Amino acid sequence: MTKKILQSKKSILFIVILIVIGCGTINLFSPSDDYALGLQLDEQIRANSKEYPILKNEKATAYIQDIVNTIIYAPEIKYRGVFAYKVSIINNDEVINAFCTPGGFIYVYTGLLRFVDNEATLAGVLAHEVAHAELRHSTQRMTKAVGLDILSSLVLGNNPNESARIAANLFTGLALLKNSRDDEYQSDEYSFKYLYSTRKWYPGAIKFFFQKTMDNPDILGLRTLLSTHPLAPDRVEAINKMLKQYQIPPPTEENLQYRKYKEFLALLK
Ligand SMILES: [Zn+2]
Repeated sequence: MTKKILQSKKSILFIVILIVIGCGTINLFSPSDDYALGLQLDEQIRANSKEYPILKNEKATAYIQDIVNTIIYAPEIKYRGVFAYKVSIINNDEVINAFCTPGGFIYVYTGLLRFVDNEATLAGVLAHEVAHAELRHSTQRMTKAVGLDILSSLVLGNNPNESARIAANLFTGLALLKNSRDDEYQSDEYSFKYLYSTRKWYPGAIKFFFQKTMDNPDILGLRTLLSTHPLAPDRVEAINKMLKQYQIPPPTEENLQYRKYKEFLALLK
């Protein structure tokens, strides 16, 4: 085989692999890598009590953990028992946000807990966070970044140490928790599906959270959230579409749980 043919074969292989990685159909990491990575991030977060002061309130934490434990019994969940799915509350009323590491370490700010009006909405937000872990969005994105770099090193003959360095950087820091727009929409969709499967809460409840952010754009605690997430009206619309498709009747006190949520908020006082 001449060198030229070999080169073009290499290029075709490169393009094919690029497409596979680009479509997000492969993940170079294993689910246990996700868990190990999450554990490492969880340690970093706990060690940084200045930025992440963990609220030591057993009753309040147990209430949220119970919601998560119900969500992860949805049949769509693949990594129950593999991932942590462990909740911690960050004691900061100024931040209206929640996040999840790979492998399911979930953090909710007291600012978000106070912002939400009922249990179903909180369940919707938590289910969205569970979805980021389940769908392995972080390591999927890392696959894209590291995979492309390693591939180009192989094909173009770049210094492989450079790839190792980039991979190492991606493994550290919370920057890797930044989800893409598509990841956000997909997690909203799964939030609906998980809640639908639990039969406990109004499946589209996450839309009440988006609705409230739209009604209160001037709240300072929402600044980061609004700058890093897709537009709320689009997300409400996507949920409304699913509600229609699944023929969900209007919500009731039974599947929203305003009263129960008020009792929970009293625990935070
Ligand atoms: Zn998200």
